[in-house]
Amino acid sequence: MEYRNIAIIAHVDHGKTTLVDGLLKQTLELKHGEEIAERAMDSNDLERERGITILAKNTAVEYKGVKINIVDTPGHADFGGEVERVLGMVDGCLVLVDAAEGPMPQTRFVLRKALELGLKPIVVVNKIDRQDARPEEVVNLTFDLMAELGANDDQLDFPILYAIAREGKAFRDLNNPQEDMHELFELVLEKIPAPHVDLDAPFQMLVTNLDYSEYLGRIVLGRVNRGTVKKGEFVNLMHKDGTMTKVRIVQPFTHLGLKRIEADEVGAGDIVALAGIEDAQIGETIADLADPEALPIITVDEPTVNMT
Ligand code: GDP
Repeated sequence: MEYRNIAIIAHVDHGKTTLVDGLLKQTLELKHGEEIAERAMDSNDLERERGITILAKNTAVEYKGVKINIVDTPGHADFGGEVERVLGMVDGCLVLVDAAEGPMPQTRFVLRKALELGLKPIVVVNKIDRQDARPEEVVNLTFDLMAELGANDDQLDFPILYAIAREGKAFRDLNNPQEDMHELFELVLEKIPAPHVDLDAPFQMLVTNLDYSEYLGRIVLGRVNRGTVKKGEFVNLMHKDGTMTKVRIVQPFTHLGLKRIEADEVGAGDIVALAGIEDAQIGETIADLADPEALPIITVDEPTVNMT
């Protein structure tokens, strides 16, 4: 399997959920026809009815045989370095900007981190159907912001997409609007580097986030750095103090659409979830039993405390 791992960076209300909905729906339509696509969207629509816009932590779509993992980034306050950890799993980002409002100060923090980590940005100017849209100006403002935040030449040479996420449209040329989002998928495949995939190396994964399930207990999330791991396999949990615990992978998961799905085996390049490692902590490495090697411990920024 080939992968692309990307993050979405957007100010609230600029259309992140709508865009991901559209991406999901179109890839599902390509595969299964319209009816299943409608049903797959149900859970998200429900969330929206409740008045909360919740994007799954990881959404996965498949386009031309490539699995694209799309991770959400916390929009504003960052406690304990979550932004860095999430961005550490990906190789590129979609910077989604409202065509009228332009880039907002709240996205600066995440964008700065993404640029520092060397991620390749694709700028998506959304809502170009708005009466007050000013897409070219917004592209220039986004360029200026990235320059100010220290983007390198390659990052400043970002590809641009114009979008009407609400109508499922995204395209490269304002004068040649497309009816769907295939140009977005093509750009992601073309411009975002594929993760290094070494399936034969000893297993290694950084614990990037934690989740909890009623019946499976703690679930660890991360991108597999190398190797593969099977259901039932024993691995080492490498603690920050240098000690190790032998643990069993009860159930590996991969992602499909908005859902986490059980897998017999997961491997390098993919963003996965593993159940069965009860005492795993963020920043620890899960590694091969016979040949364990820890990944560098991630530095955690102290949150800034504003005393006013
Ligand atoms: P999020 O907070 O970034 O997830 O934003 P949402 O996806 O929830 O969108 C916020 C609002 O913008 C909703 O009312 C959407 O219907 C609307 N919206 C999304 N995309 C477009 C678009 O392309 N054009 C217009 N006019 N509105 C849009």
